[in-house]
Amino acid sequence: MEIDFNKNSDGLVPAIIQDAKTKNVLMLGYMDQEAYDKTITLKKVTFFSRSKNRLWTKGEESGNFLHLIDIKVDCDKDTLLVSVKPEGPTCHTGTDTCWNDKNVQKYGFLTELEEVIRNRKENQDNEKSYVASLFKKGINKVAQKVGEEAVEVVIEAKDDNEELFLNESADLLFHYLILLQAKGYKLNDIVNVLQSRS
Ligand code: AMP
Ligand code: ZN
Ligand code: ZN
Ligand code: ZN
Repeated sequence: MEIDFNKNSDGLVPAIIQDAKTKNVLMLGYMDQEAYDKTITLKKVTFFSRSKNRLWTKGEESGNFLHLIDIKVDCDKDTLLVSVKPEGPTCHTGTDTCWNDKNVQKYGFLTELEEVIRNRKENQDNEKSYVASLFKKGINKVAQKVGEEAVEVVIEAKDDNEELFLNESADLLFHYLILLQAKGYKLNDIVNVLQSRS
């Protein structure tokens, strides 16, 4: 791939790091020819760090590597768009992105609920939690619950009890969010699929 490393006198080009799955922008770094070559061979994003004044493989201390999926160069060949699969949080402050996750797509209360559900998945021994107990029973049980709630929505759709319909709809959405989490997906992954179809 042709990249114009000599546009800047320091031989560096900016590299925008993007999550291949969520499309969120994770961080920005700089690469010289050597950093670029190392990124390709190692399949882990490697920058030239201006503060360290050396090659820096992101994750070399923390283990939070950025696994290389794809690199694209822009129209005038002086900026890279690097698509990655992040291992753990990308920012050293512990957030997924270097913008305090203020740059990620949010769905209001559903995103808050998604966070609670994720927390329950990570603390399955929480005795009092229904969600944790569902995760403990395994993915088949979670999927089965989604099926049951979907059937209940179908049944209530035929009736004219609006309250029952709304409640079963809420049950369905809630269990669907649990299923997404059990499979390791986010609501945003599904929104991306829907967007790509339109
Ligand atoms: P790491 O490469 O993840 O092992 O982190 C090593 C060091 O690089 C950290 O202690 C931070 O000083 C710095 N660092 C890590 N991640 C970032 C980042 N996303 N943006 C800026 N500096 C970072
Ligand atoms: Zn450009
Ligand atoms: Zn950061
Ligand atoms: Zn129900």
